[in-house]
Amino acid sequence: DHTLEFDNALDMYRAGLARDPAGVALRYFDGSITRSELDELSDGLARGLLAHGFAPGDRLAVYLQNVPQFVIAMVAAWKAGGVMVSINPMSRERELSYLLKDSGATVLVALEALYDQVGRAVVPGTDVRLVLTTSELEFQTRADERLFAGMTRRRHEGTTDFSEFIAEHRGEAPPPVDLGLDDVAFLTYTSGTTGVPKGAMNTHRNVVFTAQVYRDWARVGRGSVVFGLAPLFHITGLIGHVAVSMLVPTPLVLAYRFEPQVVLDALVEHRPTFTVGAITAFRALLNAPGFDRDQFRSFTSIYSGGAAISPTAEKAFLAATGTQVHNVYGLTETTSPMTMAPFGAPAPVDPTSGALSVGVPIPNTIVRIQDDDGQDLPLGEVGEIVADGPQVVSGYWGKPDETAANLPGGALKSGDVGFMNAEGWVFIVDRKKDMINASGYKVWPREVEDVLAEHPAVREAAVVGVPDEKRGETVKAFVSVTPGATVTPEELIAHCKERMAAYKYPRIVVLLDELPKTVTGKILRRELRG
Ligand code: ATP
Repeated sequence: DHTLEFDNALDMYRAGLARDPAGVALRYFDGSITRSELDELSDGLARGLLAHGFAPGDRLAVYLQNVPQFVIAMVAAWKAGGVMVSINPMSRERELSYLLKDSGATVLVALEALYDQVGRAVVPGTDVRLVLTTSELEFQTRADERLFAGMTRRRHEGTTDFSEFIAEHRGEAPPPVDLGLDDVAFLTYTSGTTGVPKGAMNTHRNVVFTAQVYRDWARVGRGSVVFGLAPLFHITGLIGHVAVSMLVPTPLVLAYRFEPQVVLDALVEHRPTFTVGAITAFRALLNAPGFDRDQFRSFTSIYSGGAAISPTAEKAFLAATGTQVHNVYGLTETTSPMTMAPFGAPAPVDPTSGALSVGVPIPNTIVRIQDDDGQDLPLGEVGEIVADGPQVVSGYWGKPDETAANLPGGALKSGDVGFMNAEGWVFIVDRKKDMINASGYKVWPREVEDVLAEHPAVREAAVVGVPDEKRGETVKAFVSVTPGATVTPEELIAHCKERMAAYKYPRIVVLLDELPKTVTGKILRRELRG
């Protein structure tokens, strides 16, 4: 049984602080921030937020890469009684505008360059009243050329500098807030069949529970160093990096964004012991020209989540690094883990599908396998994986219909197809949903189809995922052209690239006279997948 040790994630963070105030909370290249420094910075930010009318339940959006400001803003949002809205830094205007409007965020913390390129144009149409901009060059002095060449500070009218704002509001701690387990800690956005992103409401219960599970199952303890391989905006990073390192507490190493050569150097410099990320990221590290087995020497625990890992990839990873990679399976709606491979235990392989088990249900979690009518199936039978437990989100922000459909009775319908064996090991063998998994980034065909349809030459569009050696899956579009119009695949790719995050736009576009359809007019995706 896994009893919750705290009443909210802020208390969890404060217990970590009390245990080791002088210890390092965050490392960012050659910079580091101690726990008490993090506390002072987040106090200042929280006081500033309150002075600007930020009230309990209000939303603060972060539009940042893996930088220390992310964690400062998260703690400050909680200290002010609010909710952090996590935004993918790859979002373009169309995406950012939707997320700010949907969440009703009143404060935005953004990297200066992202604000300049994307945010500036869309913020005026939203409820955002306070924009704090900050730079990736802060909290470090070295500015690695491979990531930061040519980057300069840019200040904008109508925005306030993040660090100056904090300095201005320095002082005693902000007044205590009343946060309960059912209050929302952050909104994390996931798309879906409707193509409209939904804000999953990760509660304080979800965060405290999953942080405890990562600590206990992945063996993160005092003396551990967590490496932030996954993007922090994603639920894997929020829990498997930030929340767990607050709880233990242990330093968290941040490296701005995933760049294999830079990550390999950071492993040598910071000697991390634990990380979690997508298998495609691990593979990119192993295939990078600078890879050396010694770079992984310090790791004692590595988990892979967000995308399927094959038994071959698991073996290759062990052979190359000397460390066993364990599976973690979950969704944004399960605040990351639903099942995990117990530390040290070899996971079985399903002889029929060849799939490596994604682990066993974590404590207090019920995993069911159901048929299309929502009836439970016996052990061993294949159906939709449904999860219930303290990690399942309370719903989607402002979307009661989608909540009722995907979370009936509070249990999550995953859209993944699999089974559980007699020992409780879970296997994923298929997917019920049309989602495309590109390097762990989820792409929903409907969203790409909608963007394609905005092009005047597009009559109809259908988007599918096709196997890709590097990314696992990649996005492919089939388009029929409006009569009388002419367009090239390259033009359509460019059209999408301009309007969506880089992992979403179709890498391949095929022009067809007609899309294959059923007699009732539904597009035959299976046929297109080939
Ligand atoms: P995680 O927290 O494990 O990284 P996620 O945050 O990537 O999951 P989403 O972006 O919502 O969550 O995507 C969830 C989907 O990713 C799942 O429904 C499943 O299809 C796929 N997935 C996640 N983990 C695994 C895994 N270990 N093996 C196979 N597929 C996985």
